Amino acid sequence: MEQLLLEHEIPIKDLYLDYSKMHIMELFKPIQELKNEKDSALPVEEIWTENEAERVRCLIIGSGPAGFTAAIYAARANIRPVLYEGLQPGGQLTTTTEVENYPGYPDGITGPVMMEEFKKQALRFGADIRWGVITKVDLKSYPFRIKTDDDKKLVADSLIIATGATAKYLGLESEQKFMGYGVSACATCDGFFYKGQDVAVVGGGDSACEEALYLSGLCRKVYMIHRRDELRASKIMQERVMKKENIEILWSHLPKEVIGSQNVEGAILTNLKTGQELKLDVQGFFLAIGHQPNSEIFKPYLETDDVGYIRTKPGTGMTSVEGVFACGDVQDPHYRQAITAAGSGCIAAIDAERWLRGKEMTKMS
Ligand code: FAD
Ligand code: NAP
Repeated sequence: MEQLLLEHEIPIKDLYLDYSKMHIMELFKPIQELKNEKDSALPVEEIWTENEAERVRCLIIGSGPAGFTAAIYAARANIRPVLYEGLQPGGQLTTTTEVENYPGYPDGITGPVMMEEFKKQALRFGADIRWGVITKVDLKSYPFRIKTDDDKKLVADSLIIATGATAKYLGLESEQKFMGYGVSACATCDGFFYKGQDVAVVGGGDSACEEALYLSGLCRKVYMIHRRDELRASKIMQERVMKKENIEILWSHLPKEVIGSQNVEGAILTNLKTGQELKLDVQGFFLAIGHQPNSEIFKPYLETDDVGYIRTKPGTGMTSVEGVFACGDVQDPHYRQAITAAGSGCIAAIDAERWLRGKEMTKMS
């Protein structure tokens, strides 16, 4: 495979592992047992020849704030990152209008424009950014084997997972219609737009309580809409919610429709016990019914929590498999902000660079 070098770059073979002289199958030594095989796992027995697979030094999966930040740092560190953008180029922020809490933009910026800027910055330093979705991985062998949706084969010396998390929605047509126009899955991000107004939060877990408490400091009235007559949230969160005078819980209610013309003006709820409908006048409609980290294809190999968030060693981007790093929402059940995603992207890239260099030193000594 031909290696493209930047002006001041040293060829890979001079830097660390000289794989070029080995048959590619020799490299695939199992380094850990699989937790459980899934469709997304590549069978180790599948033979790949050297010519059919592209060798990548640092593969980044995901093009949100975490992935692009990792790409900027990795490119500047000369580990030649290749980044796959996935089905949502630019990530979650491309689905929002104003972003007002990312430092450096005193007047705010729209999510899509902000992500274009991230991408341009990564391109400026030579990151190789590609369309495509990673569909299969084998993290049991080294270097890691990866397949894309168009069946392209890659072997990666290091891997940075930045695939984000997806907020769960109710699945209402009207909910989709008002996305970014009153419907949101992030109170920290969008709550400020409803200062002094009335809002609703759907859900009864810790996230819903947290979102309701945050909004109660900004808004006139917060309605929590919960489908049961007891909260799932921890006792301490429940107590905090109960103490807030401007939070009202609507027990055993489920939203049927979000209403409005340009922006949200209210919601129709169904009382699940009586079947009666209730019209609520609110300007903001927040979903807090859980998130799903996009970690499915990695789960057979990596340690995750019960929900599927990839576990990283505290304060680092390191996962349970050496050479695999994770950053952004896919490993963060708590903060899920653009700035924290970007920060952890930086950490993951620095960790990847140090890990690759460490391997090189070991190889040379
Ligand atoms: P994401 O932005 O989720 O990006 C994940 C990327 O991974 C995507 O590019 C996707 O295509 C890619 N991907 C996934 N699977 C694959 C695969 N198999 N192969 C290849 N690529 C893959 N935060 C703020 O700080 N301020 C705000 O104002 C704000 N507003 C928000 C508004 C909305 C409506 C939403 C939903 C979120 C908002 N957030 C905001 C949260 C913020 O968007 C996230 O915290 C942040 O985007 C997480 O970044 P990330 O890089 O981890 O992942
Ligand atoms: P969660 O605990 O799964 O709660 C989701 C809530 O949404 C539940 O109340 C659920 O109702 C409701 N829900 C789910 N699907 C729904 C639907 N289709 N329609 C209506 N309601 C629906 O999720 P989470 O609150 O995001 O918390 C996830 C994890 O993070 C938890 O372990 C939580 O403790 C933790 N967390 C902790 C904190 C904290 O400690 N400060 C903050 C946030 C999150 P049911 O109750 O009826 O199932």
